[in-house]
Amino acid sequence: MELKIGWLYPKLMSTYGDRGNAICLQQRAVWRGIAVNLIELDRQVDATAFENIDILVGGGAQDRQQEIVMRDLQGAKAEIIRQKIEAGMPGVFTCGSPQLLGHYYEPALGKRIEGLGILDLVSKHPGPEASRCIGNVVFEVTASKLATELKAMTGQTPIVIGFENHGGRTYLGKTEALGKVIKGYGNNGEDGTEGAFYHNAIATYAHGPLLPKNPAIADWLLQTALMQKYQDKMTLRKLDDSLALQARQAMFNRLNLTSLATTL
Ligand code: GLN
Repeated sequence: MELKIGWLYPKLMSTYGDRGNAICLQQRAVWRGIAVNLIELDRQVDATAFENIDILVGGGAQDRQQEIVMRDLQGAKAEIIRQKIEAGMPGVFTCGSPQLLGHYYEPALGKRIEGLGILDLVSKHPGPEASRCIGNVVFEVTASKLATELKAMTGQTPIVIGFENHGGRTYLGKTEALGKVIKGYGNNGEDGTEGAFYHNAIATYAHGPLLPKNPAIADWLLQTALMQKYQDKMTLRKLDDSLALQARQAMFNRLNLTSLATTL
């Protein structure tokens, strides 16, 4: 078995450590004997490279880099991403990436950046004087399909822990929220929503990086990708996640959320 993990613009969109998501997926697959081809989708890469991707990973970036990426994505690459997400390809998109998948992003300075319009959401930066949304973020996954499947995997309410650092505020249209904020800002610091979930695409403001801190989500992505590719419902062998779980516990304790500690 083999999975092709596409990594969107590692050179331009690696400002916030989200490369950890790609490494985590790769390693957790390899530990289960699944071969991984990690494909770096930088600017010089042709649109055809997007065609066989099984899982797509996109990280955060600064406003200027987002604009360059958006120009490069327009056209054939955007169309393939749209088709694949609509067809159920799993993906994890953090911070700057979901802003690009929405209708538009209004940066702190300069012109509106048109997005791909795959997710029904818009993002706006209130301007260079506005304070950024920075800090640890904790939320419960409420997106119904994902919450149900994570619960089936772990037997627990799925609680995600991460770290957010964004100036833009995201407002959802019809797209389902990924979760409900317990601590932090989430999408905009106003409506209590965090991220978005569409087909099997996870959009979130949670860096951390997200997947090493929440290994069940990494396994959900792998399982969903294998299901899509091989049409075979398979259960991944359990791994020893005791260090990750201890790290989660330490952070819940520090945030006075001890009762939330879960094995996610
Ligand atoms: N540039 C965007 C913002 O500040 C995204 C930041 C990020 O990806 N962390 O909102």
